[in-house]
Amino acid sequence: MEKKNIDWANLGFSYMQTDQRFVSNYRDGAWDEGSLTADPNIVLNECAGVLQYAQTVFEGLKAYTTEDGRIVTFRPDLNAERLENSARRLEIPVYPKEKFLDAIDRVVAANAAYVPPYGSGATLYIRPYIFGTNAVIGVKPADEYQFRVFTTPVGPYFKGGIKPLTIKVSDFDRAAPHGTGHIKAGLNYAMSLHAIVTAHAEGFDENMYLDAATRTKVEETGGANFIFITKDNKVVTPKSNSILPSITRRSLMTVAKDYLGLEVEEREVYFDEVGDFAECGLCGTAAVISPVGKINDHGKEIVFPSGMEDMGPVTRKLYDTLTGIQMGHLEAPEGWIREIPVK
Ligand SMILES: *Cc1c(COP(=O)(O)O)cnc(C)c1O
Repeated sequence: MEKKNIDWANLGFSYMQTDQRFVSNYRDGAWDEGSLTADPNIVLNECAGVLQYAQTVFEGLKAYTTEDGRIVTFRPDLNAERLENSARRLEIPVYPKEKFLDAIDRVVAANAAYVPPYGSGATLYIRPYIFGTNAVIGVKPADEYQFRVFTTPVGPYFKGGIKPLTIKVSDFDRAAPHGTGHIKAGLNYAMSLHAIVTAHAEGFDENMYLDAATRTKVEETGGANFIFITKDNKVVTPKSNSILPSITRRSLMTVAKDYLGLEVEEREVYFDEVGDFAECGLCGTAAVISPVGKINDHGKEIVFPSGMEDMGPVTRKLYDTLTGIQMGHLEAPEGWIREIPVK
């Protein structure tokens, strides 16, 4: 298979049309077989449920090339399960896990020429999503849906080296208690756009959201979970029902415990105690971990001892170990790496 002629190292995080995408439609109470198509466009009725009432959920994962030349995905079974939970919460019919995994395999295999080579730092980003397609004007769930998976090659997240982030404590809320913060839905992002545009205009990289009920506890950013490292090297992550359960964060907690022998804690984290931590990072598929150097709380700064030049030492170990597992340098726990059958 010949790779496309792409300047992998200089790719950003933006959409590039690739050759094939997977499409399956839900009609009369059942998902059809689904198939690959070269057509990147969707023709929808003007009154489609997704357009009127935002009935859509999505996932995000990556395919990449390991050192020995295999194309793999990382824990796609967890993306399948999370998409199921997201769908249930928005009254969208579940797309079955085995069909999900097969669809991912097929789309990646069909776009193998776009999977960046090992060592480029780039990856093939995979976006599965489901949305209501038939006309809905009275407020109710749609009757018909489309499940679609497209791919787009994306560049290395840390171009020109790692730069710790400066984040602000947001005055906006991300998720209500008993709301939809724990599912991956476009609606959570629509309402975060004003907050992130505001934060950027003020010179910050990201928002730290606090719990909406008491504004005393750390939740997450718009699209990544927090981990903190205590001064005695414990790995702490906030526990809350309104946080999106990041697969990266869950994997890092396992890596911390089983590979690095560190103590781990998932518990409520009060904003008051954040200044006592030694390191702070944001976890998500895109960057694995982005180190946080500073948090600005209405003019009051928390500066982590790890500083603004590099990742802290424990964050670095976590990052190296998880990316080592992903790239095939370190043995992965059972079931974490799924090889794509490429002809
Ligand atoms: C997708 C997402 C994350 C990161 O999850 P990963 O599975 O690690 O990519 C974190 N927070 C929110 C709100 C998200 O939508």
